[in-house]
Amino acid sequence: HLDRIAGVDPEINAFLHVDGTGALAAAEAVDAALASGEAPASPLAGVPLALKDILTTKGVPTTCGSRMLEGWLPPYDATVTRRLREAGVVVLGKTNMDEFAMGSSTENSAYGVTRNPWDRDRIPGGSGGGSSASLAAFEAPLAIGTDTGGSIRQPGAVTGTVGVKPTYGGVSRYGLVAFSSSLDQAGPCARTVLDAALLHEVIGGHDPLDSTSIDAPVPPVVAAARQGASGDLTGVRVGVVTQFAGEGYQPGVLRSFDAAVQLLAELGAEIVEVSCPHFDYAMGAYYLIAPSECSSNLARFDAMRYGLRVGDDGARLSAEEVMSLTREAGFGPEVKRRIMIGTHALSSGYYDAYYGQAQKVRTLIARDFAAAYEKVDVLVSPTTPTTAFRIGERVDDPLAMYLADLCTIPANLAGNAAMSVPSGLSDEDGLPVGLQVMAPAQADDRMYRVSAAFE
Ligand code: GLN
Repeated sequence: HLDRIAGVDPEINAFLHVDGTGALAAAEAVDAALASGEAPASPLAGVPLALKDILTTKGVPTTCGSRMLEGWLPPYDATVTRRLREAGVVVLGKTNMDEFAMGSSTENSAYGVTRNPWDRDRIPGGSGGGSSASLAAFEAPLAIGTDTGGSIRQPGAVTGTVGVKPTYGGVSRYGLVAFSSSLDQAGPCARTVLDAALLHEVIGGHDPLDSTSIDAPVPPVVAAARQGASGDLTGVRVGVVTQFAGEGYQPGVLRSFDAAVQLLAELGAEIVEVSCPHFDYAMGAYYLIAPSECSSNLARFDAMRYGLRVGDDGARLSAEEVMSLTREAGFGPEVKRRIMIGTHALSSGYYDAYYGQAQKVRTLIARDFAAAYEKVDVLVSPTTPTTAFRIGERVDDPLAMYLADLCTIPANLAGNAAMSVPSGLSDEDGLPVGLQVMAPAQADDRMYRVSAAFE
């Protein structure tokens, strides 16, 4: 895999940092343990993995795709990183991403865009474009992403790979650099559903270091993926969300989705149409809640505690001046836009009208899901309204960029599980399309079963 990275990554740019020495040492340690007769630490012992550069790695650079953290060496491992290492997984390096996970194309990275291996003039999705592109380019068989509004699932869809957003609280956020704490969730990226499930069981489970971590066993996702592989979905009720269609959706994506629903029916699933009327307001609520939390979380980048410090070269500047020069230089335009929106939405006089209202919408969306899951076991939709767009096509139009997450955001707002599984190539442009399968909180196993049957 290191050779493959050396060969293709100058063009793909999936990796921000390749830790060849660390990876070989980890692989040799696994070999030595096996040679001495020890049982493998996990089913994934010795398997290489690409880690999104938003999870801390002790002594290994972690930039979040930002100039603000250039050269920062975290003093500790994220819980996800630690669990991977304990399982014998070989971390190859850190993957490219939109700055602080804000974006849908990886074009907001301070370190250059990642290219989609299917068509190198197109985006690999975002924010975790590096992780998904590394899978599609065969640079790594497994990767880790984080999903606040779709950043695992949308890159998965447009690169023809599997991307899973576990139930909120199912995977620890300790050491995951915070964007929007009530939405952020780390999860597995893989080329098959079973691989994703094996990785899910390695990284998932309760962590006392994360106060929102669920104190319950990981849902039996590996068993569910194995059960699904039989291809029998008799007795499974699949809901088709009627809101996820119409304007803004490419006809090729909708045709692929219709064919996917047809296949699920042929596998024995009962197909039910389900209306979730408040999903139409999910995008609006997300773009108040996520920037609000971001404006608060990113206040820590104050030129004093981490990374970049500008204007501290002997000039007699106040702390406030150093702070503002550093934030001016260290953050890119999208991050600044979010901080401004969030600060405004949280300010006195506007709080109730914006943030408070968005939280009420969030509750209505959670109720739509709850009502739907009384009638069906899983919900399905296209993962994203279009296939991979061209690099540069949406950079000057933030609203067009935000639309990439139209179908993925509701599950984040409700804290539910959701994943994207490849659904073939669009008959319009020959590019990959993803099927999104959603499940109730802590019922992640249901979506694995359906996805494995579909795959
Ligand atoms: N594209 C969405 C955003 O820009 C989601 C990002 C994410 O899930 N981290 O906020």
